[in-house]
Amino acid sequence: MNNDNSSAQEQLRATINQAPVAVAMFDRQMRYMAASARWLSDYEIVVPFHGRAQCEIFSEMTEQAKALHRRALSGETVSKIDDCLERNGQAAKWMDWTAQPWIGSDGAIGGVIIWSEDTTARRRTKRDRDLFMSLAQSSLDFIGMCDASFKPFFVNVAGMRMVGLDSLEEAMRTPVEAFFFPEDRDCLMTQFFPRVLREGHGEIDIRFRHFKTGEALWMNYAVYSLAEVASAKTSGYATVSRNITRQRQARQQLVEAQRRLQAIMDAAPVGLSYSEDRSCERVTGNAALFAQFEADRNDNVSASATDAQAVGRQLRFFRQGRELADRELPLQRAVAEQREIGPMELEVALPSGRRWWAEASGAPIRDERGEVVGGVAVTVDVTERRRTQDALRDADRRKNEFLAMLAHELRNPLAPICYGAHALSKGVKNPQDTQRLVAMMERQLAHLVRLVDELLDVARISSGRIELKKQRLALADVIGQAIETIEDRIQSAGHALILTPSREELFVDGDCVRLVQVFGNLLANAAKYTDPGGRVELLWAREGNSAVVTVRDNGIGVEPSMLASIFDLFTRVKEDIGKQREGIGVGLALAKRLVELHGGQVEARSAGLGQGAEFIVRLPLAAPASGQEPAPDGAAMEAGALRR
Ligand code: ADP
Repeated sequence: MNNDNSSAQEQLRATINQAPVAVAMFDRQMRYMAASARWLSDYEIVVPFHGRAQCEIFSEMTEQAKALHRRALSGETVSKIDDCLERNGQAAKWMDWTAQPWIGSDGAIGGVIIWSEDTTARRRTKRDRDLFMSLAQSSLDFIGMCDASFKPFFVNVAGMRMVGLDSLEEAMRTPVEAFFFPEDRDCLMTQFFPRVLREGHGEIDIRFRHFKTGEALWMNYAVYSLAEVASAKTSGYATVSRNITRQRQARQQLVEAQRRLQAIMDAAPVGLSYSEDRSCERVTGNAALFAQFEADRNDNVSASATDAQAVGRQLRFFRQGRELADRELPLQRAVAEQREIGPMELEVALPSGRRWWAEASGAPIRDERGEVVGGVAVTVDVTERRRTQDALRDADRRKNEFLAMLAHELRNPLAPICYGAHALSKGVKNPQDTQRLVAMMERQLAHLVRLVDELLDVARISSGRIELKKQRLALADVIGQAIETIEDRIQSAGHALILTPSREELFVDGDCVRLVQVFGNLLANAAKYTDPGGRVELLWAREGNSAVVTVRDNGIGVEPSMLASIFDLFTRVKEDIGKQREGIGVGLALAKRLVELHGGQVEARSAGLGQGAEFIVRLPLAAPASGQEPAPDGAAMEAGALRR
């Protein structure tokens, strides 16, 4: 019997030693009698254990466990769920165990058998899951997971709320595709998800559709592929996506605001430039600015740019004739000195060679803390204003010169008239002297009247009050009358007058008196500005539909730089002192305006001082009268020949 019993006990011990589960057998003192390999590995027992008490091997054993052991030893079957085994310096292990007594050969309780299950891994999975859930549920982002066929199996609360889903069940019934707008689905399914599969993750800004309102939610959609641990095969996808609708709206508003600002700036008729860095490394601006600098919209117009290719580096600025360094410019100064600068007038020289005048001011740009972070400048093109100022100054100077000249010119004939009047009032004995005096006074008076008439004509033309009495005129007749007006002067100066008439008779529609005045003035000038004994030529011919009349002399000539301005009112070329010839600078201006009133032009040519001068008048020809024969070939002839 005893033998049987002990062999039964041996058999039990052998069974326990071989058991594929964690099980151990203890005697009444809770000393080890047997333990399965699984028990030893679960409890990490590496020391010899046979015959040693459990509490000796596990010094950390709790009183509660000991009490349970005692209850088992007294005949109860006891269980402990989630027994935490904390071993020094090692991660805690969690065990569920059941202890039940075994009956010895004497029929009494011989000890306990404890079955144990290591639940650490299970607990850890559960803990991880709980952690994930609390994290996912407390997150404000959309967190979701779906399987490989895009069927969701998890969407967090925030995610459901975001897209208007009422429950996880509803979410699980909704395929991933349905979260997107139809027009975006193709790209997502054929491009985005395959990329996530290939690379393990992917990110895209895309719209989610709100299931209740249909509104679009812009999401930063970050997706990860879920891999099965064993096979590493993709088992689905997970996403943590952020609602970026507000940011996008804000960004959109910012872009809109910037576009509006740029449009306003571009509409401004002045150059606006700004720099967003304190060293003014990069300067950009509005359309007017780029036009002012002959630059393109993307060019960097900063004169302070370190990039030698920057357009701004090729711009040059001058102030009162001195070239400025970039740090002296209003924008750069405003940033450096942290205050408003200008306005100051600068001359700008462009790479193309064009120069213009700018009035520029600068001001610093500050951030919300008041720190200077850049600068802005306004550049107004004042070239026209400067030109007007220069012209006004010039006109004022010429007016003063003219007044002085006029006083002088009026005084010249007045002096002999006064003398004549005085002499006559005293009584002149000799009648020949009386005649001579009266003739002299009449000549001087005629000169005075001519001067005053010319001035009145100028005033009339300037105010548009002159009226042409136009008729069909034979040009040769007009020229003949003009010659008569200056014949005396030509003769008294001893000039030779050479005429080269047109081969054909030319007709113009014009005011005879005014055209006589034009040619008379040009001939009078030729006579006046040619030293005695000179040569005055008068040629007229047809050129296309114009009659071209040339008055040429071999006199003092005109400096080429003065050729354009001698037609301006009151302009006279200064001659050497003592040689100054009478005149008030009105004749050519008058001639030009009268020619223009006839639809023609007048032009002056001269090879330079001492080289003679040539004045060319072009007038539109009148329509030829029917049956008119061309005149015989023109040839040079003396003045008298014309009228004979
Ligand atoms: P004025 O002869 O009264 O000075 P004009 O208007 O007729 O005024 O001429 C303007 C200027 O043009 C003259 O002062 C003179 O300097 C120059 N000029 C005109 N005609 C000639 C010419 N034939 N040769 C040289 N200079 C001339």
